[in-house]
Amino acid sequence: MTAIRIEGLRKRFGRTAAVDGIDLEVPAGSLYFLLGPSGCGKTTLLRMIAGFVRPDEGRLLFDGRDVTALPPEKRDCGMVFQSYALWPHLSVFENVAFGLKVRRLAKAEVAARVEKALRSVRMEALAARKPTELSGGQQQRVALARAMVIEPKVLLLDEPLSNLDAKLRLEMRTEIRGLCRASGLTAVYVTHDQEEALSMADGMVVLRDGRAIQQGAPRDLYRRPANRFVADFLGESNFVDAEAIAVERGEVRLRTTAGELRSTAFDAASPPKAGVTLSIRPEALRIDAPGADGSRNRLAGTLVSTMYLGKSAQHLVELEGGAASVRVLQNDPEAMPEPGRRVALSVDPGSVVILPA
Ligand code: ATP
Repeated sequence: MTAIRIEGLRKRFGRTAAVDGIDLEVPAGSLYFLLGPSGCGKTTLLRMIAGFVRPDEGRLLFDGRDVTALPPEKRDCGMVFQSYALWPHLSVFENVAFGLKVRRLAKAEVAARVEKALRSVRMEALAARKPTELSGGQQQRVALARAMVIEPKVLLLDEPLSNLDAKLRLEMRTEIRGLCRASGLTAVYVTHDQEEALSMADGMVVLRDGRAIQQGAPRDLYRRPANRFVADFLGESNFVDAEAIAVERGEVRLRTTAGELRSTAFDAASPPKAGVTLSIRPEALRIDAPGADGSRNRLAGTLVSTMYLGKSAQHLVELEGGAASVRVLQNDPEAMPEPGRRVALSVDPGSVVILPA
């Protein structure tokens, strides 16, 4: 297992700073995601790890060994691309065997390793086929087997599921995760699909304009986004202006134009002092039944619109005093509230995230 350490990595293309000073630590054996909108620098960073792009500044270490100046073939990285990049004139077996033949392994060893790799992606029965005779999902499985067969130290995946349909994408998420777990290798995975990252990652970093905005475990980033950009990029969020009044017993008391709230989701090292922005997820808000207990964390507003979606319903609520319009996600909706009605929204203090100023 290989730990990857990235120190002050920078890469410019003309006037664009594609990667603008990134420090990262990818623990050995983890499945680590580089996530961010188009153009944020994730592919450039991945290519620098692979050795295809040379950094202008900074260092890259595999298990403490400086590999910054090493060419790609000396880095022991397997790569999987969005486009699969299989050779159309070679069979599945030959595609997977290629990397081993280049390394001049004996024929019997090549056959044994290819077979094992194809078995691990459940493609052993189709070894004689050409890539054109395979579905997209099958081609991507072959690409995975080809990357794994050389037993790399590090597996790099560049949007590997983007060309697959939604159902297959879900299936392949589980397979790739299982494969990485079973082999124990360190994998770095690029995507702009936040759900893919949240569902598969051990750790992740959100990038923006070539910089690392926030790193951590998926649940931590989702539940405690460091700023508005991360809160908005990872899922959906409502932003509400508030005034911090006091910090009492590990809770911040907040005043909004629609009511008072308490929050336990704030940085204890620098408790908020005055005007702040709150991030509250739509699924954290509940529309209270009329006449419900009024002592909880509540905001008052008017229901503007509502949309039934089967397994859930989305509501838009205009908060009192113009604090904000907020989206509310209701799961398994039975009765639908009528638009135009005054409503009270409640939320747990742990879901009222105070964004740093
Ligand atoms: P996407 O999700 O669209 O693939 P990305 O996050 O992977 O985007 P990069 O491909 O790393 O982003 O690109 C980061 C920035 O660097 C972009 O502004 C891009 O236009 C620029 N860039 C990348 N490669 C080159 C290149 N070879 N020459 C010039 N500019 C480049």
